[in-house]
Amino acid sequence: MVPKTRLVELSHLLYPGKEQYKLELEPQKERDEPEGIFYEVRLWSHVGTHVEYALHFMPDGQEVSTLPLWRVVGPAVRVDFRDKGTSEPMTLEEFKARADIQPGDIVLTWTGRDDLYRTPKSHDRPYVTKDAAVWLADDRKIAALGTDSSGFEVRGGPDKDPNHYKFFDREDPIPIFECMANLGELQHDRCFLIALPWLVEGLDASPLRIVAIEGQTEEDNEAAIELLSSLFSLRKDPADE
Ligand SMILES: [Zn+2]
Repeated sequence: MVPKTRLVELSHLLYPGKEQYKLELEPQKERDEPEGIFYEVRLWSHVGTHVEYALHFMPDGQEVSTLPLWRVVGPAVRVDFRDKGTSEPMTLEEFKARADIQPGDIVLTWTGRDDLYRTPKSHDRPYVTKDAAVWLADDRKIAALGTDSSGFEVRGGPDKDPNHYKFFDREDPIPIFECMANLGELQHDRCFLIALPWLVEGLDASPLRIVAIEGQTEEDNEAAIELLSSLFSLRKDPADE
């Protein structure tokens, strides 16, 4: 039996000229064919829903075009942190208690703050504690971390950006998805995620189109995730085999 599935959009619709980071469109009047039209697009790498990679923090860090596909296409788990206030911690104990995070999962912290996107409160968010980030990276060996708020970095404390360095300062960096949308549209906590960055050399970050595939029933959902994961052999890094 083929499981019945649905697609869920997890990226923000962007409005040129109205984003926090630059996004401009300009029609090009000079063109070869009268009926053709081309736009010049100017944008920052962090505009809208985006992925960040090691180069964002480290001058010698890996750039987005080297990101392995298995880290951005695969099984994902949503962890509900909608009860968290601004600048409150999302702790290791809570990650363990609130979700069954499997090795190699893409982990999505659901803060319910995507409606603050493009508002003056867009950076009001909770944060992932340092020991939770260490556990996600080293124990769970997650493929990626995503959030529907503007970030996950620790607020306050003695270290400067400990979570970014934990994820990026390693041979095989862990990508971060920021400013995701519609995590509340997912009917299940687990889904199969597809988050594809631009394949452009030299980028520290890239806009992302993220969609989830989920089953219509719990049984369909489990079957769909298993089927898609085995089809794409994505449960682990092929380099490990
Ligand atoms: Zn960013």
